[in-house]
Amino acid sequence: MGYNCVVLIKQVPDTKRITGQAMNEDGTVNRSALPAIFNPEDLNALESAVQIKEQHGGKITVITMGPPGAGSILRDSLYRGADDAVLITDARCAASDTLATSYILSCAVKKIDYDIVLCGRQAIDGDTAQVGPQLAEKLGISQITYVEELTELDNRSITAKRNIGNGWQRVRTSLPVLLTITSDANEPRVAAAKKIMKYKHARTPIEVEQKIRAENPDADDADIKALVAHKCGELEEKGLLIKQWDLDFLGADLTWCGRSGSPTKVHRIRSVVLAAKESKDVEPNESAISDMIHELIEDRIIA
Ligand code: FAD
Repeated sequence: MGYNCVVLIKQVPDTKRITGQAMNEDGTVNRSALPAIFNPEDLNALESAVQIKEQHGGKITVITMGPPGAGSILRDSLYRGADDAVLITDARCAASDTLATSYILSCAVKKIDYDIVLCGRQAIDGDTAQVGPQLAEKLGISQITYVEELTELDNRSITAKRNIGNGWQRVRTSLPVLLTITSDANEPRVAAAKKIMKYKHARTPIEVEQKIRAENPDADDADIKALVAHKCGELEEKGLLIKQWDLDFLGADLTWCGRSGSPTKVHRIRSVVLAAKESKDVEPNESAISDMIHELIEDRIIA
C-alpha cells in the first residue's frame, strides 16, 4: 500500500556565488546575475521521500511554485526518483510573501492524495523557514520541523528525531504529517543515468511554448497554440508532459495570492559590509567566550 509523499521544492539563486551584480539598485535580488539551483535542503527532503518509497512503497509528487525556468528542478527530481512533477506558474503569484506562498502551495497539495508532505527546512534565498510550518497549518495537519532522522514509520504513525538547537527531541505523531528536513538528515543521491535517459525530454507546457515561439518567430498566436497543443499531446502520450497548474486551476482566492495576499512589507534594505574596526578578536578561553556571549545577549543579537 505504501505512503504517498508530496515534496515541495524551490529553485533559488546560488547565494554562494554572489558577485557585485547580485543586487538591483532597488535592493531586490538580480536573479539573472546568479545561477539558479535546487534549494539544498529540498534535495534532502526529496531523498527522505525516496527512502520512504524504497522501504514502504508509494508515490512521490514534487511541486514547485516559480517561473517557467523552474521546470529544470522538476526534471532533476524525476532523475532522482520522483514519480510525478507539478509546476505552479502564474504571473499573479508574483510578489507573494511566505503567507501567500504557503496558501498557494496548500491549494496545490489539497489536489493530491498524500500521507506525508516534505519541505526543506529553509530556502537559501528567502531564508525564513516559514513556508513549511505555514503550509501544515493551512492543511490542518501535524508538523515536525528540523527533522534530522526518521526513526519509525508504521501503522500510519511516524517518529522523527528533531534538532532543537542544544539537543534533540523525539516526536511521534499520526499521519498525515508535514516534515521539514535539515541537511543532516541524509546524503542526497545523484541523478540516475537510466532516469536521465527516461525523462530528459520531459517538459512543461510553458517550456514547449517557449521553444516553439523561438523556432517560429513569424507564426501567429493561433498557429503557435496549435503547435503547442500537438507537441504537448505527443509528450503526454509518452508520459513526458510535466503538469502545469495556474491559480484558476487551483481555485485559489486571488485576494490571498501575490501582492494582495502578502502582508509583509519591505521598508528598507541595507547592504551591510563589516569594516575591520567592527570585528573583535576573542581569546579561545572560557571566560572570553562567556563575556562575548553575554555581550551578544545584552545587544539582543542572540536570545
Ligand atoms: P522558506 O520558508 O525558508 O522555505 C522552506 C521550504 O518551503 C523550502 O525548503 C521548500 O521546501 C518550501 N518552499 C518555499 N518556497 C517554495 C516555492 N516557491 N515552491 C515550492 N516550495 C517552496 N519571491 C519571488 O520569487 N518573487 C517575488 O515576486 C517575490 N516577492 C516578494 C515580496 C515580498 C514582500 C516578500 C517578503 C518576499 C517576496 N518573495 C518573492 C520571496 C518569497 O516570499 C519567498 O521566497 C517565499 O515565500 C518562500 O520563503 P522562503 O524563501 O523564506 O522559504
